[in-house]
Amino acid sequence: MKIPESHPRYASLMSREKIVRGVEKGITSLHGLIAQGRGEAFDYLLGEKSHNFAMDAMTAGVAALLLAKNPAISVNGNAASLCAEDISRLAKAINAAIEVNIFHASALREKKIKKEFLRYGAKALLPSKKYSIGFLEHNRRFANKKGILVADVVLVPLEDGDRCEALRKMGKKIIAIDLNPMSRTAKAAHITIVDNITRAIPFMIKIASSLKRANVERLRLIVSKYDNRKTLHSALKQIRH
Ligand code: ATP
Repeated sequence: MKIPESHPRYASLMSREKIVRGVEKGITSLHGLIAQGRGEAFDYLLGEKSHNFAMDAMTAGVAALLLAKNPAISVNGNAASLCAEDISRLAKAINAAIEVNIFHASALREKKIKKEFLRYGAKALLPSKKYSIGFLEHNRRFANKKGILVADVVLVPLEDGDRCEALRKMGKKIIAIDLNPMSRTAKAAHITIVDNITRAIPFMIKIASSLKRANVERLRLIVSKYDNRKTLHSALKQIRH
């Protein structure tokens, strides 16, 4: 469907189109449509814009990723449909591994997601049944030994709460992107970016290019000054407003 750019809900409708196309291509699961709907509802309440509390979290998140020894970005079908190109660019900017991780087990869908990233020159890793992150029983426990398994800092856009908690229990620093400040993911992450992934990733690419030359002390200061409880409080206040 052709959506005119002048449409007041252009961005939101485009995201719906991308997710529906993702389902048609076999990248996104049908359940992904429901997750997108939940995200849209929160985005509506947030005024569909990136707030200062999200910008602060993005800055702290990028600083943490630049400080990491082995940064990784975990991607699912929704993230791939919505912004595979931008995630590929961010991974390049921060030198991070991209790893496919989906809830509803499907080797075919994992391969299709990997192929989607290849279109943008990024080599996404696939999880291996040989390695498990522990604390989980479902498909999301599997990991790649060159990606999530060895990562010290992990960016998890559109994560589910128990995997976020499991990764945290493993001692990893977790940066989540989640429009719902009340989700278990938002509460379990060290840094929660309460914003739409489609707006957040392009901003993070810009932040990465401006922080790339910052020294380690400056990056550490940004991370240490960041307060996630304050972020979640500000997001809830914005929603109530
Ligand atoms: P949790 O297990 O963390 O409590 P949940 O069960 O609500 O979360 P899921 O249904 O697994 O989570 O995933 C949907 C989550 O992703 C929701 O919190 C939703 O707000 C968020 N989400 C969906 N689409 C987007 C998007 N485009 N950008 C950012 N967040 C999104």
